[in-house]
Amino acid sequence: MIRLGKGLDRFEMKGATAIVGAGLPTPLLARRTAEAGFAGVERFIGVPGTVGGGVYMNAGCHGAEFAEVVTEVTVMDAKGKIKPLPRKQISYKYRASNLGTVIVLEAKLALIEEPPAKLKELQGKLLRWRKAGTPFDQPCCGSVFKNPGGPRTAGTLIDEAGLKGFTLGGAQVSPLHANYFVNTGSATASDVLKLIEHVRKTVAKKLGVELELEVKVIG
Ligand SMILES: Cc1cc2nc3c(=O)[nH]c(=O)nc-3n(C[C@H](O)[C@H](O)[C@H](O)COP(=O)(O)OP(=O)(O)OC[C@H]3O[C@@H](n4cnc5c(N)ncnc54)[C@H](O)[C@@H]3O)c2cc1C
Repeated sequence: MIRLGKGLDRFEMKGATAIVGAGLPTPLLARRTAEAGFAGVERFIGVPGTVGGGVYMNAGCHGAEFAEVVTEVTVMDAKGKIKPLPRKQISYKYRASNLGTVIVLEAKLALIEEPPAKLKELQGKLLRWRKAGTPFDQPCCGSVFKNPGGPRTAGTLIDEAGLKGFTLGGAQVSPLHANYFVNTGSATASDVLKLIEHVRKTVAKKLGVELELEVKVIG
């Protein structure tokens, strides 16, 4: 396991281009660009994780995603060779990229000038929304299933299937947001996997929608 941290947390604005290290926390990216008066990633203020993970996974929220702003990604391959990849060589889908077995070291993001006060106000609203509508204070891994496309989100479908608050061992479908599964204190990995299966099957049976995992199951 490799954890990218402070040595790779560069943040630099060159005109409207942000040059950012993969180890920079995504919320910090959102805050710093907003303070510098640039829009494009301001809505990522509540997305935990790093720029590297976000660029690799095409993280996003509130209608914005990394794919829209990335213009170049510097990567290192398994042999230690470092090279820049222009955006046209990277294909992005919802929460996925074709970056493959490389390590993202740095990214260039094309942003647009916007008054800092306006961006700060928006970020305040989004953070309040997250705190009120997601289990911010409980251990969880974010959205469990991908939104299937169409009018209803994964959370809405799980809620409509009557599963909000459903508990299996120590794992629970959050009563606040049905696409977040929380550890109420004693959840094991097995509890979480069983809960995922139960929710997937129940939604398919009751509503005819096959939910696809957004989280990666390792091991
Ligand atoms: C409470 C909560 C809320 C969340 N909300 C959102 C949301 O609104 N939108 C959203 O998109 N996600 C959300 N997430 C999921 C997650 O935080 C993001 O997707 C985040 O961008 C992942 O970044 P990370 O650095 O933690 O990557 P990790 O989770 O550590 O890794 C994700 C994947 O990227 C790979 N990876 C990580 N860093 C690199 C690198 N430098 N180079 C190459 N590959 C790399 C890993 O191998 C793995 O395959 C949420 C999670 C939580 C817990």
